[in-house]
Amino acid sequence: MTNFLPLVEQFHSLQGEGYHAGKSAFFVRLAGCKVGCSWCDTKNSWDEKKHPSISIEKIIDRIKIARKKGASFCVITGGEPLQHNLDNFCKAIKKMTTGEEQKPMKIHIETSGVNSISGSYDWITLSPKRHSPPKNYFLKKL
Ligand code: SF4
Repeated sequence: MTNFLPLVEQFHSLQGEGYHAGKSAFFVRLAGCKVGCSWCDTKNSWDEKKHPSISIEKIIDRIKIARKKGASFCVITGGEPLQHNLDNFCKAIKKMTTGEEQKPMKIHIETSGVNSISGSYDWITLSPKRHSPPKNYFLKKL
């Protein structure tokens, strides 16, 4: 289980696409991707060694601040975020954002689906690639 994750950037913005487009969200862009799409617009995220390894608690501190400022969910993106085991990260987000009168922060993930699932999500955005198809788990969810 990993308690540190390679981080490209994290920021509070509006979700720009899909069903939740226009909603306030906090994005966590993890480094690492072996899918190798020629059209990729985040090639700087591919090599995780080029990015700092950050403790999940530190990342979640920023999620908590964004929530206070109106973010209604966090989006784990990449790179290919499921290249990492995200069980601990998701559990920690839920635990650290739950209060007496506060439900846990909702977690979304954006993935190509080429890796096994880890973590638990309120919303999965699948972006399948013809040259590297998703695992059956994701196809069954469609
Ligand atoms: S899966 Fe996403 S991050 Fe990875 S190469 Fe393709 S477009 Fe880029």
